Amino acid sequence: MTKQVWVIGAPYEDGGRRGTVFLPALFSEARRIAEACGGGLTAVSFAPDEVAIPGLPSVCGIERHYVLVSHGFSHFSAQAGATGLLALVQQEKPWLILMADVLPMRELAPFLAGSLKTGAITGVVNVDISEPERPRFFRKVYGGQLYEELSFRGENTAIVTFDPDFLPARATSAPSREPETIVRRIELPEGGLPEYLGSFSVPARDLDVTEARVVIGAGMGAIGDDVYPMVLELAGLLEGTIGTTRPVVDIGKIPRERMVGQTGKVIAPELYLALGVSGATHHVGGIQEAGRVIAVNRDAYAPIFKNADYGVAADLRDILPELIKRIRRAKENGEII
Ligand SMILES: Cc1cc2nc3c(=O)[nH]c(=O)nc-3n(C[C@H](O)[C@H](O)[C@H](O)COP(=O)(O)OP(=O)(O)OC[C@H]3O[C@@H](n4cnc5c(N)ncnc54)[C@H](O)[C@@H]3O)c2cc1C
Repeated sequence: MTKQVWVIGAPYEDGGRRGTVFLPALFSEARRIAEACGGGLTAVSFAPDEVAIPGLPSVCGIERHYVLVSHGFSHFSAQAGATGLLALVQQEKPWLILMADVLPMRELAPFLAGSLKTGAITGVVNVDISEPERPRFFRKVYGGQLYEELSFRGENTAIVTFDPDFLPARATSAPSREPETIVRRIELPEGGLPEYLGSFSVPARDLDVTEARVVIGAGMGAIGDDVYPMVLELAGLLEGTIGTTRPVVDIGKIPRERMVGQTGKVIAPELYLALGVSGATHHVGGIQEAGRVIAVNRDAYAPIFKNADYGVAADLRDILPELIKRIRRAKENGEII
């Protein structure tokens, strides 16, 4: 039987808008794997009704498009998605299921793997298909300083989520074809699934450090009573969230879930502002994916400067009042929003 590679689209909800996102780069990667093992390519999406059937990106070579339709998908949850997919996957037995490593797929993958009693590899950054029957998947560990190599044993359907930031843009040479669309109406069970109560946006300061665009890292040098209130004020002005280092967590000043580093969280904000952070290897292992790093430390030889795009060797007590004043003024003048 031909090996089937499935790509599952990611449902999204943005204000009143809902839909399914398919990343063309994920299809290209799926096509590459499918071609290597002589298999076919199938897309799967979720829709609340037959009217809302999502379109596919104009990439070539998708043979079938399963659309799972249920009112229960109007507010998507990983549990509902896994329940809806289960029977189809058990019946069709795809060889490999690929998803983008984004919410809610990051949750769907382990739910589905649990229901199927199979394995899931999440956050994959690369795949080696030199042995097409047994692809080897790579993901980052220890704050991105090492890669681990994983593969699946046995014949069960394998589930993989790909980190979208690492999906290579490859041209696909597959012939253009209109996929066969197969609509499946799904009856989700009445109870046992999460109930949708409403949605609300999270203020920037409450965002998880892994999700924020701006993270203000408060190290041991930034948590004194004469400095920390200014750090919080700056975070508010920049619409950022607070991250921190291990000793700060150890003394109970900032909760553990805000710790950045090898044993904390790996973050990828557009801006990381490291305030009073020495820049130990354990910490900087967690900021390698940050877009821009700006460090302020009174020790001009602090290691953090080796990992910063911009650095200011100064005491925070001198720098922060002026910085806050200037940012506030610039905001009032509409120079920054
Ligand atoms: C197994 C292991 C795992 C670890 N994992 C992690 C981890 O995941 N994340 C993590 O963060 N740490 C981790 N650590 C701890 C790590 O090694 C460092 O000890 C820690 O990152 C240092 O935190 P810090 O920079 O806040 O404090 P410090 O090293 O004390 O540095 C404070 C800095 O603030 C500066 N400073 C002080 N006052 C001012 C001021 N007024 N103005 C400007 N600058 C000032 C100082 O010059 C200094 O550079 C781990 C350690 C071990 C052993």
